[in-house]
Amino acid sequence: MSPIYDRVALIGLGLIASSMFWGMKRDGLAGHVTGYARSSETRDTARRIGLCDTICDTAAEAVKDADLVVLAVPVGVMGQVAKEIGPHLKPGATLTDVGSVKRQVIEDVSPHISETVHFVPAHPLAGTEHSGPESGFASLFDKRWCLLVPPEGTDSAAIDRLGQFWEGLGSFTDVMEPDHHDLVLAVTSHCPHLIAYTMVGVADDLRRVTDSEVIKYSAAGFRDFTRIAASDPTMWRDVFLTNKDATLEILGRFTEELFALQRAIRQGDGAFLHEYFTRTRAIRRGIIEAGQDTAAPDFGRSR
Ligand code: NAP
Repeated sequence: MSPIYDRVALIGLGLIASSMFWGMKRDGLAGHVTGYARSSETRDTARRIGLCDTICDTAAEAVKDADLVVLAVPVGVMGQVAKEIGPHLKPGATLTDVGSVKRQVIEDVSPHISETVHFVPAHPLAGTEHSGPESGFASLFDKRWCLLVPPEGTDSAAIDRLGQFWEGLGSFTDVMEPDHHDLVLAVTSHCPHLIAYTMVGVADDLRRVTDSEVIKYSAAGFRDFTRIAASDPTMWRDVFLTNKDATLEILGRFTEELFALQRAIRQGDGAFLHEYFTRTRAIRRGIIEAGQDTAAPDFGRSR
């Protein structure tokens, strides 16, 4: 494929940025890629493993002359990083981010960007519980959705070009409005993470009572919660602090449902439980039919 952007700058060099870099190289989507992360340790690791064509010691240097600049840092520092790079962005460049929350990022970043730069926020719906510069891989975005969440009035050619870039990385793309994005993600990602964190926290408390049983018998469902609850603490702290309203709305509904199930168990209402679990089972089938997960038992694990 011919490059979609001549020069790309990645600010933040963790799971998402490193996967984007390996994907860009695999698919020939960029001419030259610069990178920057805040710690010299991460920058040294990036140099050692060949992550990016050039690693710069400042964000300003990394974004100089870039046609596409990607903010791939935790949501809570997007504004601070935008302030740092804003004056150094090339006129006509596209600035994007990969943050898991969109309304707050738009509010934090927009004031620092001149009108000559196209700001097109995005969110790839792909990830793992690993983080850091060595965790990325080229196929992370294959057949996953990337949502483009441009503020009103964004240049449509800039949106289309970024869409082509994500499609080049293997993703399906869609355009979404920021508040709707944050509500949908609260349901599909943010609240499930919070519930997993809670369940693992409860089990951790219990472990003090039951010793190693919680670990030993963890294949019985708990193991899947532990994978999610192993996700990066900084990233997830920022997600909840910046998507507060939508998360609290969905958690309120979740609590009501939980009470309904609790009452059904207490009252021995088997019909209610059976009907509920039949409905939820169909959702899993829908996800598999949409190609977003494997139908193999236990996600295809061998043990
Ligand atoms: P990560 O692996 O934890 O990496 C974060 C990177 O940001 C690190 O290189 C870190 O540098 C850098 N960083 C942190 N603060 C910085 C600052 N003030 N200035 C410059 N660099 C800074 O994170 P990730 O998983 O790639 O996530 C990046 C973004 O993608 C987040 O906004 C997250 O919400 C979003 N996202 C994540 C996933 C997922 O599943 N992980 C999925 C979709 C979207 P150091 O290494 O030097 O600390």
